[in-house]
Amino acid sequence: MTQKDAIANYMKFAGVKTLNIVAALIDCDGVLYDSMKNHTRAWVKLMKKNGIQCTRDEFYLYEGMTGTEIIKKKFKEGVGKNITDDEALALYGVKGRYFRELGGAPTMPGAREVLEALQTAGVKRIVVTGSQQATILGRIDEDYGELLSPERVTGFDVRRGKPNPEPYLKGITKAEARPYQCIVIENAPLGVQAGHAAGCFTIGVTTGPVPEKDLYKAGANIVFPSMDALAQALPALLEALNTATAG
Ligand code: CA
Repeated sequence: MTQKDAIANYMKFAGVKTLNIVAALIDCDGVLYDSMKNHTRAWVKLMKKNGIQCTRDEFYLYEGMTGTEIIKKKFKEGVGKNITDDEALALYGVKGRYFRELGGAPTMPGAREVLEALQTAGVKRIVVTGSQQATILGRIDEDYGELLSPERVTGFDVRRGKPNPEPYLKGITKAEARPYQCIVIENAPLGVQAGHAAGCFTIGVTTGPVPEKDLYKAGANIVFPSMDALAQALPALLEALNTATAG
C-alpha cells in the first residue's frame, strides 16, 4: 500500500479532515528490544516443565497479551487447569527467571533512530507494553531514558492486555491527546489489533517471523520491514500525516 493511500484510508476510518500527530505509543518487546527470541524460548521451557505442549512460534501470536493471561490460557487449554491470579504471577516469575538466564535481550537496531526522529518532530514518545517483566521495564530508562517521555503504560496498569484496546487507550489518555493524534508502533498482530481498535494510525514493523500480510490483516495502516526502515521513512511520513487533507 502506498503511504498516500494508507493515510487517506485512515482519515476515512477516523472520520477527520486533518491530522496533527502529537504522540507515538510505542510497544516494547520486538520494537525497542530484540527480545522475542529469548521470550519464546523462556515460554517453551516453562510450558514443557509443566507438561504443556507448545511451539515457539505460537508465542509470537500471543505477544501483547499480559504474561498472566498467556499462562492462564495455556494451562487451561494444555492441561485443563484453572490457574488463580497468584499462581499465574508466581509462574510468570519463573518464566522471567528463564528469560534472564538467557541473558536478557539486546536493544533493537534502528529503535534509537526512530525515537530521535520522533523527538525532532516534537512528538511525545510513550512506551505501551503488556510486559510485567522487571528485567525489561528496569532497562528502558537506562537504554532510552532521555529519548522517552516519562509517561508509561505497562502490564501493571491494565486489566486487559492486547488485543484489547485498553493499553493504547491508557496511552492516549497519558498523552492528553485524541486517538487520531497518536501513532502506534507495533510488531505483533495482537498489538496491531489493539492500536487499530484504539483508533490510532497503526504502524507495523516485521521484526520477527510474522509476515507483513498478517500485520495488515490485523489492521495495520502501513508496515515497514525493520525499525531502521521506519526511522528512515518517519520524517516524511509524519510530514505527510500532518499535511494531509481528506479528499
Ligand atoms: Ca511486541
